[in-house]
Amino acid sequence: MLIHWFRRDFRLRDNPALHAAHTDGNGRVIPVYILSDWQGSHRWSGPARQATLCGALRSLNGQLESLGTRLVLRRGDVLPELERLLRETNAEALYFNRSPDPAGRALEQRVEAMARTCGVRVRGFHEVTVFEPDRVLTKTGHPFRVFTPFSRAWLQREPPAPLPPLKPFAPAPIPLPSLPLPTLADWGLGSAPAILEPGEPAAHRRMETFLGDPVFHYAGERDLPALDATSHLSADLRWGTLSPRLLVQRTRDALAHAGTAARREGARKFLGELIWREFYMAVLWHWPDVLDWEFQPRFRGLKWDAPGTAFQRWCEGTTGFPLVDAGMRQLAATGWMHNRVRMVVSMFLTKDLHMDWRHGEAFFMRSLADGEIASNNGGWQWSAGVGADAAPYFRIQNPWTQTARYDPDGSYIKRWVPELADVPPGLLTKAPSSALAPGYPLPMVDHAREREITLDRFAALAR
Ligand SMILES: Cc1cc2nc3c(=O)[nH]c(=O)nc-3n(C[C@H](O)[C@H](O)[C@H](O)COP(=O)(O)OP(=O)(O)OC[C@H]3O[C@@H](n4cnc5c(N)ncnc54)[C@H](O)[C@@H]3O)c2cc1C
Repeated sequence: MLIHWFRRDFRLRDNPALHAAHTDGNGRVIPVYILSDWQGSHRWSGPARQATLCGALRSLNGQLESLGTRLVLRRGDVLPELERLLRETNAEALYFNRSPDPAGRALEQRVEAMARTCGVRVRGFHEVTVFEPDRVLTKTGHPFRVFTPFSRAWLQREPPAPLPPLKPFAPAPIPLPSLPLPTLADWGLGSAPAILEPGEPAAHRRMETFLGDPVFHYAGERDLPALDATSHLSADLRWGTLSPRLLVQRTRDALAHAGTAARREGARKFLGELIWREFYMAVLWHWPDVLDWEFQPRFRGLKWDAPGTAFQRWCEGTTGFPLVDAGMRQLAATGWMHNRVRMVVSMFLTKDLHMDWRHGEAFFMRSLADGEIASNNGGWQWSAGVGADAAPYFRIQNPWTQTARYDPDGSYIKRWVPELADVPPGLLTKAPSSALAPGYPLPMVDHAREREITLDRFAALAR
């Protein structure tokens, strides 16, 4: 028998390691997932994330059952659990898809060493991005530090075609003990936000719906958080319930059949966002220390304020800045936040409250269903003005102007901050001098003043 170790690739369609195991073993594959204990206690774990994991596993098991097998679920440290399973099943080989982040890469090296000691063959594959992170390089063979040339080089390559669907599996020769599918309670977590339905079938429905028409309006509407104009595929890409290769292939098809220049622009812009994801994965791959340090060395000594009640108010969405509060409450309620608003709240935390981007990064990872180490780190370093191809530090977004531009009639704000339901939209786009509504706080800082403080702190280090 061969073993496929699921990690963050919870799908059957276009799953390279699973497909190879199925082919090499003539369907004799034991699909395994190991729930690690650290997942419950890690500072980046939270209910939205764990609920997505539970739902994705449940759905994956259903998919596997439809092909005549089921998921073998174990719990504990990956290394001893996998070793036990290799021995229990007398496995010939272990297949898995490689992880893009440093902890995942270190783990798979230990797993490979362990398997070889057991005399088991190991095969690692790539699935997280369309191209392996070390394939898109400059002409001189170096990784890109800036998005636009990366994107150009990415677009010049021909994406690999997705794999054909899997045939049914051969039944397991021996019944293997497996734990029941997990629930949030297994990690001592209570209720979860209203996340989107996890799993491969739901991901495909979302993709079809989005590529059916909204993608053609994406360029003009993607920045307006009141509209439901983006794909909502981020958690699917994060948990591997959707193949990035398949999504890119389908997006290119949409582009080819867009019809008009305006509609083409929508599909092109969407493809561009998928490439941003690939860029940040490549950055993390080549510079894994971005998880600890600013990508731009000159900003490594920046002065930050200690997180205290101000950080708490940001987390809770009670800053008195309506757009910031709406975003933070959308995050708490749904485990997702609109990209434009992610930019606003992250810039507010780093530039108006002067808090270290790492606090925001960790809070997002705990709260997001789509928490993706590379994109989240990239997004935070971008907003803080310290990352790869980041917003220049002196270009500090004004939360009031952002509101006027992206939520002019206040409908996004009013949806998430009901206290402000009756406030005329014009009053939401500038700092008020008296309370906007009973129970809603005054802005906790003066944006113009804090902007100057930020500029001084950066200027002290910038050359
Ligand atoms: C501070 C900050 C933190 C972020 N954290 C994450 C995160 O943890 N996980 C995550 O997937 N995205 C993150 N993003 C990027 C972006 O906000 C989300 O990908 C997007 O909002 C998800 O919604 P969607 O699927 O509807 O996106 P769409 O607009 O439909 O975009 C399609 C896909 O492209 C990718 N994408 C879009 N924008 C970006 C971007 N700026 N960077 C990288 N990939 C992008 C995502 O995979 C997304 O699903 C972050 C952005 C910021 C500013």
